[in-house]
Formats: sequence, structure tokens, C-alpha cells
Amino acid sequence: MASLAGSRARQLSLPFEEAPLWDGYGLEAALLRETSRPLRLTLTQNRSVLLSFRRKTGVIHLRLHRMFLHAPLAVVRAVARSLRRTSRSADSEVRRFMNENLHRVRKVPRQLPPLLTCGRVHDLQQVFDRVNARFFNSALRVPLTWGRGSGRARRGGLTFGSYDPVLGLIRIHPVLDRRDVPQYFLESVVYHEMLHHHLGGIPNRTGRTVYHSRVFREAEARYPWHRQALAWEKDNLPHLLRASAELDRKRKAEAAALRRH
Ligand SMILES: [Zn+2]
Repeated sequence: MASLAGSRARQLSLPFEEAPLWDGYGLEAALLRETSRPLRLTLTQNRSVLLSFRRKTGVIHLRLHRMFLHAPLAVVRAVARSLRRTSRSADSEVRRFMNENLHRVRKVPRQLPPLLTCGRVHDLQQVFDRVNARFFNSALRVPLTWGRGSGRARRGGLTFGSYDPVLGLIRIHPVLDRRDVPQYFLESVVYHEMLHHHLGGIPNRTGRTVYHSRVFREAEARYPWHRQALAWEKDNLPHLLRASAELDRKRKAEAAALRRH
């Protein structure tokens, strides 16, 4: 029970629990002001269409997911620009906001797993804070945790990190919580996942969502030890694979021991 209360207290401090910036009337008024067109706003909980509008007898009928109650003024302005069709860049700003707020779109209230950032050797929160300060003005708010290492290992490779867009959560493979794993490698993995949160997916011409886009790769290469990190991964993959298999065996043995009790 104590641990449950603990994890709940922790979740309260996370950004998605914050109070909305607008109520429905305030948001509609702001949109009216920014578009200077007759406009009716309907707020929805629709999980597949987050934003849609049509024009009927000179009035814009705009339907927005309730996540937009959390939209800063810059995003509201970008929505207005999209409605006036005067700006193409507005679309990407709105899309980024929607990507970063997907955790607000869900059937049941989100349940984050307990967050474990302090490992045996490396503290993920410290890694995150350093990367956040260097690349994001310390503005990014993303929960992260050491994973359980139960993710499928790719053949000849390991998934060192993953970003869950629905939970808005970064998981890092526990095999990296070792003394022989250098800071810069861990930072490069965390940075990669933070970029997934920050950039979201970009639809290509055929409508498929691309995650490792050119923009993504360029941003990734801005990490000063990017090349060293790639080289280190190449040199150390065999022993990390062995270490990961070892973690796996231990976890299974522990689970089996629990079942026997
Ligand atoms: Zn990736």
C-alpha cells in the first residue's frame, strides 16, 4: 500500500496532471479572436480524430479534442492559422502538440508503472536532466524508468530504449545499468528517446508515419559523442547481448521461485 501511495504522489508531480489552461468558453473566445471569423467550438473525447472542421454558411464548425484545453496560446494561434489556411508551418506545430499530448487520449485513466530511475550504477534522472539542459532548455517533461528488460531482443541487436507515445514514457533497458557502460552511451540512448517524444512521427507522402525522419537523424547527430556512441555500441554489442541473456535467466529463475512459494 505504501508503495502504491508513493507512486501516486510521484505521478501527481508529472505534467499531464496539471490543470487545463482554458475552459471551453475561454478557448472558443481565444480562437474567435485569433481567426477573426465566426466560429463554433465543440470539444470532444474522440480518440481517432483530434481536430476537424467544416465551414457551413460562413461559420467555421471546429471540433477539438479536450487535450486542447491544455494548449498554450502559441498552439491556439497555430490552430487559428491552420483554419485561415495562411500558414503551412502551423500544421506541424499543431501536430507536435497533439503528439506530445497523446497520453490525454485514452479509454481508461492512464496508469504509469512505478518509475525506477535510480539504478545500481546509473541514475537515469540525472542523465535525463543533463540531456534536457543541453538540448531542450530543460523544458521537456517526460517520465522515464529502467525497464524490466523483457522486451524482445532483436536478432543480433538489443532495443536499448523505447518510447511509449500513449503512456508518454521512456523505458531504458536494464542491461545498460553497468559500470562498463559509459555516460555518453547512456546519454545518447536517452536523447534518442527524448527526440521521439519531442518530434513525434511525420507522415510521408504515402501517409505512413516516419519516426526516424531526416529531421530526427539530424537532431540525433547533434549529440557531440554521437559517433563515439555508435562505435561503442558496435564494439560492445556481443558482451551486452550476453549480459542481457544473463538478466533474462535471472528474471525467469526469480519468477519460477516465486511461483513455487
Ligand atoms: Zn528510434
